[in-house]
Amino acid sequence: MKREYDVVVVGGGTAGITAAVQAGRAGAHTLLIEKNAMLGGTMTVGGINAPAHFFAWGQQIIGGIGWELVRRTLEETGHPVPTPEFSRDNNKPTHLAMDKTIFAALCDNALLDADVDLLFHAMPASATFQDDSWSLYVCTKTGLQRTSAKVLIDTTGDANLVTLAGFDLVRPDVVQPATLGMHCSGYDAEALDFDALRAASEKAIAAGELKTTDISWQNGDPENLLRGHGRNANHIRAPRAYTSEGKSEVEIEARQAVWRMYRFFRRQPGLENFRVDWICSEVGIRETATIRGKKTVTVQDYEAGKLYEDAVCYAFYPVDEHLNDGLGINQRTLKRHVLPTIPRAAMLPADSSFLLVAGRCVASDREANSALRVECPCMAMGQAAGAMAALSVQTGLDPEELPMNDIYALLRKHGAVVPGDITDIDDQADGSDA
Ligand SMILES: Cc1cc2nc3c(=O)[nH]c(=O)nc-3n(C[C@H](O)[C@H](O)[C@H](O)COP(=O)(O)OP(=O)(O)OC[C@H]3O[C@@H](n4cnc5c(N)ncnc54)[C@H](O)[C@@H]3O)c2cc1C
Repeated sequence: MKREYDVVVVGGGTAGITAAVQAGRAGAHTLLIEKNAMLGGTMTVGGINAPAHFFAWGQQIIGGIGWELVRRTLEETGHPVPTPEFSRDNNKPTHLAMDKTIFAALCDNALLDADVDLLFHAMPASATFQDDSWSLYVCTKTGLQRTSAKVLIDTTGDANLVTLAGFDLVRPDVVQPATLGMHCSGYDAEALDFDALRAASEKAIAAGELKTTDISWQNGDPENLLRGHGRNANHIRAPRAYTSEGKSEVEIEARQAVWRMYRFFRRQPGLENFRVDWICSEVGIRETATIRGKKTVTVQDYEAGKLYEDAVCYAFYPVDEHLNDGLGINQRTLKRHVLPTIPRAAMLPADSSFLLVAGRCVASDREANSALRVECPCMAMGQAAGAMAALSVQTGLDPEELPMNDIYALLRKHGAVVPGDITDIDDQADGSDA
């Protein structure tokens, strides 16, 4: 790690990768700090390699660096690359299935090719703005090290950097539950008696040996987990997962849930050899905190498809709130041809300067957040944050003061779809799936 950077990005998930690549490609001397050993965040370490949605209503609504990395992963692994037509048929899910290992390796390369310095196994310990630049202490394996930056970008998902910098967060009393991804095998799903399994699981739940949410977040039915081989199946309460203490609680509880499930299934006919091949190294967190921004995306604006005057990207996903207490989901698809946008001011902590946020902790109310937190909008926000940071370094202007046309020009140069560019939504298209 060097003593001085133009831009420091903290958090190498979907938003942080595109932020750092964009800043680097635009000529800013950039460092990316990531606490884990791998890029991708929830998309790789959390096992959610299913980015949604680059396409809507027959159009590509998110492009740029995120799309380039996902497209290259699909090409590299021999998967078909979808076209906008992909989103025209309401019956087709438009989450893309991706190889997370190849994606992470491609991201390493993209960052290094953009001359970004990459620091894994590190977290910031403090962030102070003084004399027109940020001073940052970073906790590394060998102790605290100091660096500085003209602009900071918080892509931790939890707004950890914003907290260190002393700005307010919004922490809801109730947050969506988390999920521990895994892969299970050792059985033939076609040969299982699911009625008998449902009856047995009800008995085990009544006896206190199993929790309903250990085996299902939908309806308490073990069939989805077994047919899906463990993918995105459980609900784990995660009330304080923006702190190390809260993360510790949720990781421990998630492994207990897997163990309860394992013991239960191994006692059932046809599942005697049930095994858990792997669990993700980190529980996937849906919601922790958002910043108190200079603007907040409300669900009303989101569902109306408001084109903000400072919109930096599109987003497309239904309201998708997993219920905190037990099973189920509050889901509302978007109305026909609605295309929400995300404004720059929602990426700027109130009262801050030269500090940007991208990803799921962007300023938004709970319902709007449940929709715009998905991977493609996070990538698009990240690229916009990287572009604004690079322009801030070049001009000395705070991101809030940058002319929108300059931001758009840089984003278009790097392949992004800019809000307002989509004017000809196909009247036949019916792409609100999810
Ligand atoms: C169970 C589940 C299912 C989902 N399903 C889908 C789906 O099907 N499709 C979809 O598109 N989206 C889905 N999502 C949502 C989506 O995956 C996430 O909301 C999105 O990836 C968030 O991106 P992000 O970049 O904001 O944060 P993250 O991906 O969480 O990245 C944050 C990064 O910052 C790092 N970090 C955190 N704190 C620090 C720190 N203090 N210092 C240094 N580094 C730090 C983390 O290690 C991580 O790499 C799902 C989420 C979950 C949990």
